[in-house]
Amino acid sequence: MMTNNKIFFASARAKEFDYNHSFVAKFEEVLERVDLSKFFNEKDYVAIKTHFGSYGAHRIIRPIFIKKVVDKVKELGGNPFVTDTVRIPGLSYLEVANMEGLNHLSVGAPVVLADGIFGMDKVTVKAGDILGEIGVASAIYNAPSMIVISHCKGHIASGYGGAIKNLGMGAISCRNDCGQAERGRIHFAQNIRLEWDKEKCSYCENCIEVCSHGAIYKGVITENIEVDYEICVKCGRCARVCKEEALTLPQSEERFQKGLSEATKAVINTFELGTVLYINFIVEVQPECDCMPMADTPVVQDQGVLVSDDIVAIEQATLDILRKAPLLPESKGYESDVGEEEEPLAAINEKHPQWHIDYARELGLGQKNYQIVEIEQKPKKEKEN
Ligand code: SF4
Ligand code: SF4
Repeated sequence: MMTNNKIFFASARAKEFDYNHSFVAKFEEVLERVDLSKFFNEKDYVAIKTHFGSYGAHRIIRPIFIKKVVDKVKELGGNPFVTDTVRIPGLSYLEVANMEGLNHLSVGAPVVLADGIFGMDKVTVKAGDILGEIGVASAIYNAPSMIVISHCKGHIASGYGGAIKNLGMGAISCRNDCGQAERGRIHFAQNIRLEWDKEKCSYCENCIEVCSHGAIYKGVITENIEVDYEICVKCGRCARVCKEEALTLPQSEERFQKGLSEATKAVINTFELGTVLYINFIVEVQPECDCMPMADTPVVQDQGVLVSDDIVAIEQATLDILRKAPLLPESKGYESDVGEEEEPLAAINEKHPQWHIDYARELGLGQKNYQIVEIEQKPKKEKEN
């Protein structure tokens, strides 16, 4: 644990006309100060877990920052790979990563799917009361060390998605051994199904269009909206796009928020203590998750980056920063009913992200107190004679 639960912070502002004051240079300095060598041994594989984005959602972590992490890990003798799990069919998801600029050439390391191209490569581990067991994506399970680079933004079910969401959903395999939803069990339980209300349905077919797995369709004879649960991954995108509220997810928010933290714990437990580092980018804070088919404009100005080895502290610090950030005009934050000092993503999505952070603390994943150490600039190099 870093001394006094220290969280390094670099602001996104660059106030001087000088490389050493740039956000990129300050991030390099944060990586220097954190001393990444403590988190892995030479020759270790280091999973760099991020989110690859989506067709239409372009606000992911820019490759330059991922490359900085890759370069540092390599400099220290580690073997980094950049990874995420299947959201849409695997090969299409790799195309998305490439389209977003995440590829071996841009980040300097292999870009791979942790649960394989079919989203079924996993190791089942014990989770908790809500999930029972859960499948951790194999490449993450087997990696001895991990750096979790999270884009902080909104989320349909948890309100806010940061490091806990990046692991609790993003490090879990898409499917189980039978090809059915594994990660989706966090969205809604195995025995629970999407509910469709014929009276409310306008037959716009938006739900069918948004499903990248082809799991939802209009019945040929009945013309009812039907779901094939053999292939549905329970991502919830179809319910999200239904403006008529004809298609709904019958799930309690409390179960989801707790399930998310439970799955996060299951993932973290596959690593030895002191081998996981968290990097939260509070930039391009859009109201939706990066797996949605679009990305709205940011709700607050770019704030910066936080780096810590405590997932609870870094998530709490992120929410605290968001709570204090002024809402941007012409954004969804500005249009929504966000109270003073209220966390904007929670208010916009009408959810309680603090619940999953508090539950993560209850599960022993970290502490809520922290001390911010701000890096103002990268020191200039001494000139050689
Ligand atoms: S999106 Fe909603 S209203 Fe449109 S077809 Fe699907 S269930 Fe019906
Ligand atoms: S939840 Fe909806 S969008 Fe997601 S896979 Fe199932 S049917 Fe498709």
